[in-house]
Amino acid sequence: MAPLIEIAGIGRVYGATNAPVRALNHVDLTIEQGEFVAIMGPSGSGKSTLMNILGLLDRPTGGRYWFDGEDVATFGHDRLAAHRNRHFGFVFQGFNLLPRATAAENVAIPLIYRGLSRAERHPIAVAALASVGLAHRLRHRPQQLSGGEQQRVAIARALVGDPLILLADEPTGALDTETGKEILKLFKLIHGSGRTIVLITHDLSVAQHANRIVSMRDGRVVSHNMIGEARSALVSRMPG
Ligand code: ADP
Ligand code: MG
Repeated sequence: MAPLIEIAGIGRVYGATNAPVRALNHVDLTIEQGEFVAIMGPSGSGKSTLMNILGLLDRPTGGRYWFDGEDVATFGHDRLAAHRNRHFGFVFQGFNLLPRATAAENVAIPLIYRGLSRAERHPIAVAALASVGLAHRLRHRPQQLSGGEQQRVAIARALVGDPLILLADEPTGALDTETGKEILKLFKLIHGSGRTIVLITHDLSVAQHANRIVSMRDGRVVSHNMIGEARSALVSRMPG
């Protein structure tokens, strides 16, 4: 079976040809279904650029990307958008909620793109909010919620369409340490229920919650480390 995600030699150059910024330089990465991977590196190392490419929000300027064995470069605009909506859920540092919409309305947004009516969307959004512990906050607007609650709403929105993969870019970056830990606990539960998670962070104490850490520097992957059980499982499979 093909890996869920496989990229090879991925490059991304921003800007004009006379002043190019090489944000990614020959990045190779394979992510199997069910993994919990952290992508770690200092600010400016290319993490968000990589996440945008993995999540089909941006196209690379070089290299290859196979999603579930299919070459993403062959996808037209509509197919790319449909794949993004069907297979990916996104969580960002700043929550990115619509300020005038209620929690339930925010969570239902990905279902609008699937053509569901308001009446069809609502119970699915309510169930997603309940799954992150916010059944009692359905009609609250973002500014009536704490940072941790807003991030839970954003996580419910990311999960509402039952995506294969959760992509989270510095999801605890705007939260205090305790609240950040709660969010990481929630990610572990989500991973435990079978979802693939890619967690982007500059913080080792956050990255250590994953089963594998991919380290980046200056637009390149500089190491792949297994941690905890993932490493023991791999070592126990090695001969002799
Ligand atoms: P990280 O998320 O690790 O902080 P980014 O992927 O945001 O890194 O950025 C990698 C590099 O690309 C940085 O040098 C950044 O300034 C540059 N960059 C990111 N986005 C753009 C853009 N839209 N236009 C030009 N340069 C960009
Ligand atoms: Mg970033």
